[in-house]
Amino acid sequence: MTQSPLLPWDQSPDPRAILKEADPAVFEAIEKERRRQQDHIELIASENYVSAAVLAADGSALTNKYAEGLPGARYYGGCEYVDIVEQLAIDRAKKLFGAEHVNVQPHAGAPANIAAYMALLQPGDKVMGMKLSHGGHLTHGAKFNLSGKIYEFHGYGVSPQTEMLDYDAIRDLALEVRPRLILAGASAYPRKIDFKALRQIADEVDALLMVDMAHIAGLVAARLHPDPIPYCDVVTTTTHKTLRGARGGMILCKAEWARKVDKAVFPGLQGGPLLHQIAGKAVALGEALQPSFKVYAQNIIDNMQAMADELNAAGLRLVSGGTDNHLVLVDVTPFGIGGAIAEDALGRAGITVNKNLLPYDTRKSMDPSGIRVGSPAMTTRGLGQEEFRQIARWMVAVLRKPDDGELIASIAAQVKEMLAAFPVPG
Ligand SMILES: *Cc1c(COP(=O)(O)O)cnc(C)c1O
Repeated sequence: MTQSPLLPWDQSPDPRAILKEADPAVFEAIEKERRRQQDHIELIASENYVSAAVLAADGSALTNKYAEGLPGARYYGGCEYVDIVEQLAIDRAKKLFGAEHVNVQPHAGAPANIAAYMALLQPGDKVMGMKLSHGGHLTHGAKFNLSGKIYEFHGYGVSPQTEMLDYDAIRDLALEVRPRLILAGASAYPRKIDFKALRQIADEVDALLMVDMAHIAGLVAARLHPDPIPYCDVVTTTTHKTLRGARGGMILCKAEWARKVDKAVFPGLQGGPLLHQIAGKAVALGEALQPSFKVYAQNIIDNMQAMADELNAAGLRLVSGGTDNHLVLVDVTPFGIGGAIAEDALGRAGITVNKNLLPYDTRKSMDPSGIRVGSPAMTTRGLGQEEFRQIARWMVAVLRKPDDGELIASIAAQVKEMLAAFPVPG
């Protein structure tokens, strides 16, 4: 019997060379984006660089496969190999986080949250979540988001004095609102979250507890941030932020919620899972189980501390006075500018950040008082505390003179030079 021609994947023609020939326009834009990533200091707190292994899994033939259902129980034939991949992702996530049940199919963090709400809530139910303006996420009940349209969200925030979560105020609100669900987790909060305290509040008012650990999942995996899983009914996360995997989402839950969660993801919200992305999640979860990932996560925190020290010493105000995790919120108004000018000037110097509202900000979201700065991506590229201090000094110089084109051009050149020694993986 003759075999149909199929080269082993590692001996197949280079897919990148094929793309270049087949579609030069798309290839060229990708190539420019690769160059941009190499030559810029990436401080957006939600971004990271995946390994070459994750990238290969992402760009694999698994994108061709339909596999509605779960491993071993699909609505399509030919799923025997994608079943292996999805089961590996599930088993690794369970092991990494000590979760009773995991669904790895959510296409991203936002649909993971919507599916979790569908599993836990009825339309119109009351939910408490962190206000967007204090660091929460759009999917935590913003008026213009599906979450805010379907459920009755009540926002809590940080204390005006400490700029940290005020658990007494959260308890007071819970006693008043009597929510079905208390939701915690943030996109712009530089401190640890006390999940045990939130569980106590939830128990007192007979509410469920859900945590969205999208930003901190990598720190939780490394046991460098308090672990929400023991306290929560359901935990959602992205897989591409500090966890450093393929772009996507994941839901972890207690066994009693397993069926409802699985049904909410499919057929409740989504159709076929993205198996190539799930392969990328599996590879990344395998990486996160290695001892080297713990070192990486510790470096994220150490690097952020070094940068925060420098920024603080230069007279920029850090929200809550500092950070325990991978990000800081920097008030740039002491330098007489707002977040929009800061973001733009740093961008011209080759340093990418995002402008961000600060808690109780009196400025508008298109030009808020602050910027959000994170260390996960550059830590992946191997930068250490010395480099983070140097970057902070460049940032201070730019923010002091955002109109000085010559200064900014000279810093941009130094940025490129520093980064030559730290290639982007893949
Ligand atoms: C990033 C983020 C999300 C959304 O993830 P996407 O993959 O962008 O949909 C949800 N919740 C929190 C807290 C986040 O930071």
